[in-house]
Amino acid sequence: MLKRSFLGWSKPRIKNLATGDIHRPPEAIAVPGEVILLAEKPAIETGPPLVQPGEAVKTGQKLVLFEQADAYATAPVTGQVTRVTTRAGDFGKTYVEICLEADARTQPDEGFAAACGDAPTLETLIGYLANVPGKPDLETLSDPDKPMRKIVVNGADPDLLVATRQYQIKNREEDIHHGISILKAATGIEDVVVCLTQDVTQNVGHLGAEPVGVKNEYPGTLPLMIMKDSLGMEVPAGSSPADLGVFFISAEAVASIGRAYMQKVIPAQKTLTVIDKSGHIRLYESTIGTPFASVFEAAGIVLEEGDRIVSGGPMTGAAIYSDQFPVMPDTDAIVVQAGADIPLTSDYPCINCGECIPICPSRIQVNMLVRFLEAGQYQDATDLYDLHSCVECGLCAFVCPAKIPIFQYIMLAKYELDRLESAEAANE
Ligand code: SF4
Ligand code: SF4
Repeated sequence: MLKRSFLGWSKPRIKNLATGDIHRPPEAIAVPGEVILLAEKPAIETGPPLVQPGEAVKTGQKLVLFEQADAYATAPVTGQVTRVTTRAGDFGKTYVEICLEADARTQPDEGFAAACGDAPTLETLIGYLANVPGKPDLETLSDPDKPMRKIVVNGADPDLLVATRQYQIKNREEDIHHGISILKAATGIEDVVVCLTQDVTQNVGHLGAEPVGVKNEYPGTLPLMIMKDSLGMEVPAGSSPADLGVFFISAEAVASIGRAYMQKVIPAQKTLTVIDKSGHIRLYESTIGTPFASVFEAAGIVLEEGDRIVSGGPMTGAAIYSDQFPVMPDTDAIVVQAGADIPLTSDYPCINCGECIPICPSRIQVNMLVRFLEAGQYQDATDLYDLHSCVECGLCAFVCPAKIPIFQYIMLAKYELDRLESAEAANE
């Protein structure tokens, strides 16, 4: 197996957006009459969802989904469950979809406030704040086999044209400061750094963490690139920052944790960067669970036949098929592309132009890799062409003149290999 060192990375950088490029503060989107929660169904066999239509819920209430699994959703509004169904997701995943009819009045749930106690604990964080805006992967902090030594608060947006995290850094200092102190107290980790794009010039010493500069250039704001370029740590291929004891958390997630503890209420307002069909970029704030259709209405976006909706940024986001898809706790951006502007992916074979090789920051021979991915030979793609050195930037697909969906092939291959590995581990 090749296991290429990430130290070989260099090159192509495309300037990211800076919040200074956006001149208006986020526009608040009204809470819609119905919000939609999506939670991935666990791989293990579960019974039917425990949440049922007719159930009344309060804002911030924990909705335990299955008897046998720890997964839970968090009600972003006060209201009533109207529908519980399943929905197909990417790569064969299944989601439980819970629809809530929102009441005009808000009644906060008391569960989190009661659990806060005198001192923050990891148990409370994991048990109540897993679905706050920014969606912190808090479970990672509790793995006894992988102790964390460093927390990286990421204030750099990991995709082009997105300013959601930079906005938090510039405008939510008090929340972030408090969130960092909560994280330190709950985990005992004192080594906390805040990644700032270099055009964010404010002094962040008062946040209780060391500032670390990140070049505001794509793909330099991806966590694996930050590890190498800004923290001087080499992540071996196939590993993650967590394997090296480094816990990444977005600035918005830290701000959400801070606000939750200050107000004793679980926040549900998600900041979004919305890029419309003309390429105009604006920030919005919407309640988690708001259907994209409501965001489009607020943004004056009218969908037409053939338009594409992308959840996430332009390089790494995923196309979705319905404007009833909801804003999720980790939806940092929504892009709408006019049908006429969409470069269609194709069945054309690779023409061996070589464009994808110099653009790849991991120096993978993408032209060869793609042949194995197209044939579904994922293990060979890993062993012979370094699939696991890919940092998931999407630049190869961006430049490919044959419009081969290379990035989607890569994500599918990684997902399938992970799934096989988990299945093998479960059978041991
Ligand atoms: S997505 Fe493509 S360009 Fe980016 S690291 Fe992976 S193979 Fe290289
Ligand atoms: S850019 Fe596309 S067509 Fe060109 S070598 Fe790479 S995969 Fe083949």
